[in-house]
Amino acid sequence: MTQKAGKTALVTGASRGIGAAIARRLAADGVLVAVHYGQRKSDAEETVAAIERAGGQAFPIRADLTDDDALDTLFSELEAGLAGRPLNILVNNAAVYADPDDPAAMQSDGYVAGISEITPAEFDRIFAVNVRGAFFVTQRSLPLLGDGGRIINISSAVTRIAWPLLPYAMSKGALDIMGPRLANELGQRGITVNTIAPGITDGTEANTWLHDMPGAVEGVSAMTALRRLGRPSDIADVVALLASDEARWVTGQLVDASGGMALA
Ligand code: NDP
Repeated sequence: MTQKAGKTALVTGASRGIGAAIARRLAADGVLVAVHYGQRKSDAEETVAAIERAGGQAFPIRADLTDDDALDTLFSELEAGLAGRPLNILVNNAAVYADPDDPAAMQSDGYVAGISEITPAEFDRIFAVNVRGAFFVTQRSLPLLGDGGRIINISSAVTRIAWPLLPYAMSKGALDIMGPRLANELGQRGITVNTIAPGITDGTEANTWLHDMPGAVEGVSAMTALRRLGRPSDIADVVALLASDEARWVTGQLVDASGGMALA
């Protein structure tokens, strides 16, 4: 997949977790990566530094995806960073599970509470980042996206597997719908749109509970056909595959990247 050398990418939510792994993986393939983040400047700078230490190219861009003015800044800084080059790859990865500042929205395992505990503000925040943010980042990327570009949305296996994350799962369901519709709309420009559904991925802040709860690692691993937890690099490699020229004939698809979680 070396033909990505010289291409460009915007990865939202790339300061940490899966997004950081995606940014590092694309940069390792020779892609110039815009490392987007929301609040954690030092984490984003560390992602950029890790890419540069490995010989890659990246630059950080801050924007709260719930703030339309911040989106203006995001795209003016992106255009400056691309310096006249088209955008080749957009990865809509940024998301929230719950508002960490709202104790009522969180359970002791870190996950979103059940329907009775969700506040309207919490529901709105999840949709503002996960759905509205991804939608308008995509819309604003279109003029920059070169023909033959790639849009990859990070959804979740929770749209298929019941898990106590209802508003979050609903928000990811919206991305699952967006994929094939956009693929149809953008296909005439040779732009592919695909959606990846990771399973439970270790090494992310959302899943530190796995290591605090006795038996959780073993229990969740046993839910997968491959009998282990996912790693951020497992998801990043699927992004690299879908972003490659080899995947040019794959569009509008929902690609499960869960190690075969809860297979029938
Ligand atoms: P993290 O919670 O580790 O990171 C989230 C990223 O999104 C951060 O970079 C964060 O920026 C950014 N972000 C959050 N809110 C905003 C906002 N309002 N504006 C701008 N940026 C924002 O995510 P994960 O690595 O756990 O997950 C990555 C993706 O994978 C998500 O789409 C998630 O839904 C999906 N996924 C994850 C799974 C898992 O097991 N972890 C399983 C299935 C799907 P900052 O650091 O600056 O706050």
